[in-house]
Amino acid sequence: MKPVVLITGSSRGIGAAVALLAAQAGWAVAVNYVRQADKAQALVDQIKAQGGQAVALQADIGVASDIARLFADVDRLFANIGPLRGLVNNAGIVDRVERVDEMSFERVERMMRINVVSAFMCSQAAVLRMSTRHGGEGGSIVNVGSAASRLGGAGQYVDYAASKGAIDSFTIGLSKEVAAERVRVNCVRPGIIDTDIHASGGLPNRVRDVGGQMPMGRVGMAQEVAQAVVWFLSEHSSYCSGSILDVSGAR
Ligand code: NAP
Repeated sequence: MKPVVLITGSSRGIGAAVALLAAQAGWAVAVNYVRQADKAQALVDQIKAQGGQAVALQADIGVASDIARLFADVDRLFANIGPLRGLVNNAGIVDRVERVDEMSFERVERMMRINVVSAFMCSQAAVLRMSTRHGGEGGSIVNVGSAASRLGGAGQYVDYAASKGAIDSFTIGLSKEVAAERVRVNCVRPGIIDTDIHASGGLPNRVRDVGGQMPMGRVGMAQEVAQAVVWFLSEHSSYCSGSILDVSGAR
């Protein structure tokens, strides 16, 4: 038997680094992706080659019925491996650079649906499986926020920053609701990390362009964020709940 962790958006970037490290720490890993099945499967193959257990599961976490299917798949495919004891709400998006006075209703709604509503609904499904109130044996939820929640994203993407502000508050509130039910809820707030997310927001050179302006003279690596996430998943952080940890290199 192994504890099972579901990591949303783990086909690449920070989520993939968390999946690899969690597998090395003894977790069986549900690797969620939305489109890039080849990347998710390559990661699963890599985890298995290292002696770990993993399954790739397609679901758009911005769609309610997909979230229900994702958790049903986890229940079914990991039934003989172990109970769901971890959830990492990692999947997230940015949009192209715009001022607030240029943003469409649809853009802001999509941002909140994928970055915020998904974390609520995935956490709800996890709490129903982990909380002692619902017959579970406890667990750990880690939200991937962003340093943008305290920086504001002015002139670039205030909608993204505000969605991550909601994740900070969500972490604090949910942690208090489930603290006595053996479920811990924490948040890791990365600074600028070298992943594809910047290209998806129309800034493919962002990592190269801003690295020298960072306090440490460089951006962060996905593995550096993963270390913090896997620590929050583990019992090494057993008295941490409602904590928000910046992994942002003094930014
Ligand atoms: P990324 O490289 O763009 O990877 C995004 C991941 O999320 C991919 O696995 C993608 O799957 C998945 N995804 C996107 N939309 C999804 C959806 N609707 N349903 C399910 N999966 C979806 O992103 P990242 O940089 O690793 O970011 C991960 C998290 O860290 C995000 O919450 C982000 O806001 C946060 N963060 C990142 C940075 C940074 O500088 N990179 C800084 C602060 C916070 P496919 O491969 O199938 O497309």
